[in-house]
Amino acid sequence: MRDLAETIRTIPDYPKPGILFRDVTTLMGDPLAFEQAVDEMAAPWRETVVDQVIGIEARGFVLGGALAMALKAGFTPVRKPGKLPFDTISEDYELEYGTDALHMHVDAITEGTRVLIVDDLIATGGTALAAVRLARRANARIVGASFLVDLPELGGAEHVRNENITVNALLSFAGH
Ligand code: AMP
Repeated sequence: MRDLAETIRTIPDYPKPGILFRDVTTLMGDPLAFEQAVDEMAAPWRETVVDQVIGIEARGFVLGGALAMALKAGFTPVRKPGKLPFDTISEDYELEYGTDALHMHVDAITEGTRVLIVDDLIATGGTALAAVRLARRANARIVGASFLVDLPELGGAEHVRNENITVNALLSFAGH
């Protein structure tokens, strides 16, 4: 078994000063670490019916696609504006400077669909909460949210838990 934290590369001051960027491409590039990460992320949900994994662009696609296979679920992408070809619903979220938006195909999730929201990392939670709002607008049942990395000092996982959503993260890193 790998210590998965050691397979994630940390890049200081990227994309701007003061940020410790947790680069999960090194974990994904290590076959055993990648397999272990997907197994461990899937484990808490194996006894739960998950119809669709909602993966958040872009690293959430890689983990979410693998998790969907592991859980025998479908995969629904949530993407930045202008990327999805069909009609979409969208939710704005705050960035440090300005706002961004996430889109989902209008017909991707139907009422009562049991969804698991997946991304590589949760920081402030703004991104994940936008995905939560999209899922709720589609009248999905959110069974949980799964992340490889949590940055607990930024409070995002707590915000999602405050929405009565079960949150699981494999690793916690101190700092931003
Ligand atoms: P947030 O909306 O603040 O929870 O930010 C989460 C999103 O931004 C995820 O899609 C992450 O991939 C990315 N992200 C935020 N902070 C970091 C970080 N320190 N290292 C790597 N990715 C990050």
